[in-house]
Formats: sequence, structure tokens, C-alpha cells
Amino acid sequence: MSKTILIDTSRCTACRGCQIACKEWHGLPANKTYQVGWGSHQNPQDLNPNNYKLVRFSENLDNGVVRWNFFPDQCRHCEIAPCKETGDMYIEEAIVQDEKTGAILYTDKTKGFSKEQFEEIRESCPYNIPRRQEQTGLMVKCTMCNDRIHNGMPPACVKSCPTGAMQFGERADMLKFARERLAVLKKDWPEAMLADPDSVNVIFLLIDKPEHYHKYAVAQANIGPLTKQQFLATLARPFKAMKG
Ligand code: SF4
Ligand code: SF4
Ligand code: SF4
Repeated sequence: MSKTILIDTSRCTACRGCQIACKEWHGLPANKTYQVGWGSHQNPQDLNPNNYKLVRFSENLDNGVVRWNFFPDQCRHCEIAPCKETGDMYIEEAIVQDEKTGAILYTDKTKGFSKEQFEEIRESCPYNIPRRQEQTGLMVKCTMCNDRIHNGMPPACVKSCPTGAMQFGERADMLKFARERLAVLKKDWPEAMLADPDSVNVIFLLIDKPEHYHKYAVAQANIGPLTKQQFLATLARPFKAMKG
């Protein structure tokens, strides 16, 4: 059974502690950021090789009321990962899955992918996550803090969250907790939902329409022909935690 992160967006205050903790743990440098001309408090504007985690800000007008939604974006660590399925067609084990945690990991072998192959891998990701270091060709993204987990610690972003918006644990426990929390939130937020819980190991609990957070808040069907069938099969998989 894999490990799972649950991100309850109803508790997120956009403090960006998780974004900074991720950079700190992975020793990632700062980016030059911009406020003027971009019109958003979100910074930086997108995931990049120096940001495996990005708190996205989205403003929406709902019946005359402005709603400001926050979405701490990162790799979902798919149960069957389209990026790995696509990468395996070109270089075996450049992208691997940790048997114990379920984390999808990009190894040094990813430097061997051509730019075109990288673009194909990126396009196969239903959440638009993979990024590539221009100078080295290394593919990068969230690692689930696999090194920390193997040493008995939670992911850095989870550890840093001051509001309890992020939880980490065994997949079955997180799924059970997510369903219970969803039932509570549904009373005040009828549109509350879990984003693709049967197929990913980073599960978002949303209280508004997915498109009111981020284009890729739920899986987009931009995935390659060889992996599409497999990915959809995981979406159709019975929700085991609910049956127990
Ligand atoms: Fe790969 Fe994208 Fe799934 Fe992450 S979210 S494991 S990058 S396919
Ligand atoms: Fe960053 Fe680790 Fe959180 Fe992934 S799990 S976003 S690598 S801190
Ligand atoms: Fe939201 Fe927690 Fe991240 Fe702060 S640390 S932005 S509250 S998920």
C-alpha cells in the first residue's frame, strides 16, 4: 500500500509555507519574481525547475461574490503514471516508482531524453507537472520527499503547513479521512469533491468547481494514446476504502 498526501483546500490560507519548505529541503534557488503586469499575488507564475510546489491563486466571481481559491500544486504521484509509461518507451527506468511509498521518481537517466521526448512525456501528464532543466536536460518535479519518508519523516511541505491543510499517511487511512472530511464540507459547500482519488496519491479536496482553482486541478485528457486506456482504467477502479 502506497503513501498518500491529502490537501484540504478549505484549510489553505495561501501562506506559501509549503512552497518555501519544499525549496529549502531540496536546496532549490530563488526565482526572480514579478507582481506588476501579472496581476496576481501568485509567485512565480508557474511550476519550474526551481519550484516543485506552487501555491496557485485564482479569483472567481460567483453570484456577485468574489471567491479567492488557493491550490498548492504538485505532482500527484499517479498509481499508474502516464509520464513513466511514456518515458519507458524511450529509456527503461529513467522514471521509476518506489515500491514502498508509490512515489514516482525522475532519475539521472532522464537527461538522456531528447527535448522532443521530454515534451511528449510532459504532454502525457494529465496535470502538466514535469519540468526540465535547460542546461542539464534533467527532468524534475516533486519527489514526495521520498528520502524523508524512508527516514521516518513526513514530506517537508506537510510538516510545514500551519493550518493542517496537508495530511500524510497510509493510502487507506488518507482515503478514509478524505471521505469523512468531504462529507462534513458538503453540508456548506455542495460542490465539494475529491480530485481523482482512485488514481493518484496526492489527493486534493476541493470546495469549488475544479476549473475555479486551476485548469489541471483534475486530470485533463491530454494523455498519450498508449497510456490513456491504462489511466482511465485506474479512474474506474472501485474505491476500496469506502467498502471497508
Ligand atoms: Fe507523472 Fe504527472 Fe502523474 Fe506526476 S502527476 S506521476 S508527473 S503523470
Ligand atoms: Fe516538495 Fe516534498 Fe512537498 Fe513534493 S512532497 S511538493 S518534493 S516538499
Ligand atoms: Fe496552504 Fe498549508 Fe501550503 Fe500554507 S502551508 S499555502 S496553508 S497548504
